[in-house]
Amino acid sequence: FVNNIDEFFKYCEENEVEFVDLRFTDIKGAWHHLTYRMSAVNAENLENGFPFDGSSIESWQPINESDMLLKADVPTAFLDPFTADSTIIVFCDVYDIYKGQLYERCPRSIAKKALKHAEELGIADAAYFGPENEFFIFDHVEFTDQINEAGYRVDSEEGEWNDPSRFDDYGNMGHRPRTKGGYFPVQPTDSMVDLRAEMMLLLEEVGLEVILGHHEVAQAQGEIGIVFSDIIGAADNVQKYKYVVKMVAHLNGKSATFMPKPLFGDNGNGMHVHQSLWKNGSNLFYEEGNYGNLSEMALNYAGGIFKHSAAVAAFTNPSTNSYKRLIPGFEAPSILTYSSQNRSASCRIPYGAGEKATRIEMRFPDSTACPYLAFAVMMMAGLDGIKNKTVPVGPMDEDLFELSLDEIREKGIPQMPHTLREALEGLIADNEFLQPVFTPEFLDAYQHYMFERQVWPDESRPTAFEF
Ligand code: GLN
Ligand code: MG
Ligand code: MG
Ligand code: MG
Repeated sequence: FVNNIDEFFKYCEENEVEFVDLRFTDIKGAWHHLTYRMSAVNAENLENGFPFDGSSIESWQPINESDMLLKADVPTAFLDPFTADSTIIVFCDVYDIYKGQLYERCPRSIAKKALKHAEELGIADAAYFGPENEFFIFDHVEFTDQINEAGYRVDSEEGEWNDPSRFDDYGNMGHRPRTKGGYFPVQPTDSMVDLRAEMMLLLEEVGLEVILGHHEVAQAQGEIGIVFSDIIGAADNVQKYKYVVKMVAHLNGKSATFMPKPLFGDNGNGMHVHQSLWKNGSNLFYEEGNYGNLSEMALNYAGGIFKHSAAVAAFTNPSTNSYKRLIPGFEAPSILTYSSQNRSASCRIPYGAGEKATRIEMRFPDSTACPYLAFAVMMMAGLDGIKNKTVPVGPMDEDLFELSLDEIREKGIPQMPHTLREALEGLIADNEFLQPVFTPEFLDAYQHYMFERQVWPDESRPTAFEF
């Protein structure tokens, strides 16, 4: 919408903007904001940064070094469709005034550094990411006994929701999708048509290119397809997408959750991530005639992600709940192999995509990931695979969910870690491939935060109280 500071002020005037909402992302992927009065915003603070307290964000600054700056990325500005008074939202990077550089714990800045690293290696000058974030819409009224106001599950008997013999307790279940029955009967079974339509129109209003919307496989599950973007643009889009989906649900008296596995026995929420590297305008992942028309470089990229899968998972699947999704039978694969078309492999090559669109789709990530960190970590692992010509196991075109544990072991197929603890141990043991971009100081802070605030409290809870 705007390209520079002059255009920013012109745009604000045209739209009678009263407030400038500065937004940044923490290491968990949570979006934070600070609202400035339009009259207090000028070319100088837009250029040099806005002060804020970095000690109130989890795992950031100590209280005695808490002054930080938010540097506005002006061309990202867009009007907030949800505020009563005209408000413009701007993505910001966090600046460390003590070191005089972008903050080493700012995920958005880390992703920028990762792209620069790919350029410096001479491998690629662009990296495209296409995330697919699935979600559930829960009804406040009907589910108050399971979901409290903060969105936490409060029942202790997992599984009750999906036991058909219990449906009587919830009244008339006519025209409601049964377990795995959501993809995709028309209305009235699909009761989310108008909600998704509202979401799609608002997503376009905030600058995302919407392709389609549909009910997903599980009951009350949905997805909206968005056009891919470069690494920063795609991660920014995830933040906008979650904001719009949650706000539209909220304004309709419902709540949206991106939690990986909210319901026992039904599909979970993934964040599949389509990826390709480009150089001088050509797709480095395309090689006609190969399996899936995939280049050796693309295979090595996947091989790198598989090789470092435990460390990668610490960022792409960073909640205890993440690992309840990665079980056979729910289109959420943990088997580290690749296949064209096969949704039971961790890496799918969308069939017949052509030169421009050939890409790999990593299917294990979920939306509890901070998108900036998840994309950057996958790219770093992929670049490492390219440097070392790492060859992934595969292709495997059979239904991998049918494999027994013995067969998986016999065939020597690697798997994703099975717990967050295992992923974090993997990160501690294997992080050299990240170090050109992720500082040891950041990695240390990250794993401590994850152990202390995610693993220990959540592993010790007997219920699904994970958010
Ligand atoms: N919901 C599935 C997952 O958890 C994906 C289903 C699909 O998009 N085909 O990843
Ligand atoms: Mg999809
Ligand atoms: Mg989907
Ligand atoms: Mg997909």
